Amino acid sequence: MSERAWLLHVRQSVFTKLVAIMLAMAAILLVLVLAFVLLYLGPVMNASIDGVVHEYMHTVATTAPSYERAKEIGERLDVQTRYEGPDGAWATAENLPTIAEARRHERGSFSGRHYYVTSAPNGGTYVFAWKLSERMHTAHLVVPGVVLLLIATVVFAAHGVLRRLLLPLRWLGDGVTRLSEGDLDIAVPKRSGDEFGALTDAFNRMVGRIKDMIRARDQLLLDVSHELRSPVTRLKVALELVADPDMKARMAADMAEMEIMIGELLEFERLRDGRGISTTRQNVVALLGEVARNYDDRPPSVRVVPTTPEILVDIDLDRMRTVIRNLLENAIKYSLPDSSPVEVSATQNGQAVVIRVTDDGPGISERDMPSLFEPFFRVDRSRSKKTGGYGLGLSIAKRIVEAHGGTIAAENNAKRGASFVVTLPEPA
Ligand code: ADP
Repeated sequence: MSERAWLLHVRQSVFTKLVAIMLAMAAILLVLVLAFVLLYLGPVMNASIDGVVHEYMHTVATTAPSYERAKEIGERLDVQTRYEGPDGAWATAENLPTIAEARRHERGSFSGRHYYVTSAPNGGTYVFAWKLSERMHTAHLVVPGVVLLLIATVVFAAHGVLRRLLLPLRWLGDGVTRLSEGDLDIAVPKRSGDEFGALTDAFNRMVGRIKDMIRARDQLLLDVSHELRSPVTRLKVALELVADPDMKARMAADMAEMEIMIGELLEFERLRDGRGISTTRQNVVALLGEVARNYDDRPPSVRVVPTTPEILVDIDLDRMRTVIRNLLENAIKYSLPDSSPVEVSATQNGQAVVIRVTDDGPGISERDMPSLFEPFFRVDRSRSKKTGGYGLGLSIAKRIVEAHGGTIAAENNAKRGASFVVTLPEPA
């Protein structure tokens, strides 16, 4: 997957959306907690602590503490004192503001401290300074920090739980992808009895029903084809009695078409599950030349691209001839009046033998690509005399190639037209 495709996949995934919702909720929660602490709890606590502290200091001031007692209180409670009065002046810390400065900042704070100025019974003045805001500041940081940590832990845990919870959805997605690629041998494992479990059950039942329907369709085709053989044979005998030569020729042509159709249907069914193949070692290059010669007089004709004179491969000769004939027939049939000759080549790449049929026709639309090898699929549903066919040619080719342990695929050329690529395993 390219980086862009991966990013798009991540952006569109339900999992990402759920995690995003969780993160958004966590962020909102954090903002709420912060707002509560900063806008409500902080001021309320400050105000009530301030009240208590003022009360305390007033009491201390009226007991007229000495420098030693003020120093001792300062160390114990982290409250610094300055005194100025008739019996001298002292301060328990160096950088305490003057009384006048402290008075100015009494209502708020100055250089991180709160101040309280009060007079002593002997006419002197005390300044008390404490760093309440710094402690509150720490509390303001610690509370959101702890909340953030808790939220991160919850999000992390929920991420894991979500991953496990959504696993059946991923399995179902894989199942649907494989089903759309034509793989019917799938059973999505059921992990839980919840909605996903019910969905998995329903999906597996649906696959079972599709399998049954395809089996019934194939059986019907087989039965009808078998049953049609005898009446067609009888009609062929009766045809001999038709006196009008024109009518006889037309009827014979129709009869031949019916016979081809029945033959193809029976062949398609015979090849089911890779049955009915018997291989011998053959030179595939010679086979290509032999089949291509049949198209010498059909424009735009077929050219065998020279590679090596001999490539040996284990194949059922008649069946592989059918594959190449079907591909060349299509390539010729769908060529345009100005198309260059169809090209066919065989190459070896060390692990496989690759046969490639390249035409210069209209190509295949991306929409039709996945259905191309389905039985009875035709891009143009109306069957014209020129492109006449039942949409079985490619599906028969696919069954034959797969019975050989190979693969067949179609792709559009860079310039114009389509290429069909058959890959066969190299002989051991
Ligand atoms: P049909 O008997 O209709 O040719 P096939 O199974 O051989 O049946 O092909 C299925 C459909 O695939 C065709 O109807 C045609 O629309 C498309 N197709 C096959 N080969 C080519 C090609 N070389 N170029 C364009 N379209 C093709």
